[in-house]
Amino acid sequence: MAAACAGMEPAAAAPPSPSAPTAPSPPSPSSSSSPSSPSPPAAPGSAELVCAQGRNLKAVLCQRCGSRVLLPGAATFARRELLLPAMRKKAVAAAANGGDVVREHWLVRDMFSFENVGFTRDVGNVKFLVCADCEAGPIGWHCLDDKDSFYVALERVAHE
Ligand SMILES: [Zn+2]
Repeated sequence: MAAACAGMEPAAAAPPSPSAPTAPSPPSPSSSSSPSSPSPPAAPGSAELVCAQGRNLKAVLCQRCGSRVLLPGAATFARRELLLPAMRKKAVAAAANGGDVVREHWLVRDMFSFENVGFTRDVGNVKFLVCADCEAGPIGWHCLDDKDSFYVALERVAHE
């Protein structure tokens, strides 16, 4: 019967320890004062491609043949959800073959900012950008309703 009263003692759960050797826990700053909007997770690698002014730090090249598409500083980083057809060696037949949603782009405001670029035929009111030399692509997107916006998908080009 001596063991019956052992569980009735709540003081045993918190033994007095004047010098706790546990690791110091830093004060958590969670939800203290952060009224900023929830920032979307940045894609790995994109940060080192964008300068403080939001422009491309490196030249933009064709992934396949290395043809130069944009010089450094010729475009600004932009986020927009665009559907690009899957990459093909020849972009002309790719439009009907599904595609990928691409969110990170180099936005070019002037077609003459490109070093080299090609375009597919119109697909509705959209043209897709392809490599001018080997036609790899689509590497980008252009809507005929917005003549001053050319999007080049970061994940579809090489940077040097
Ligand atoms: Zn190419």
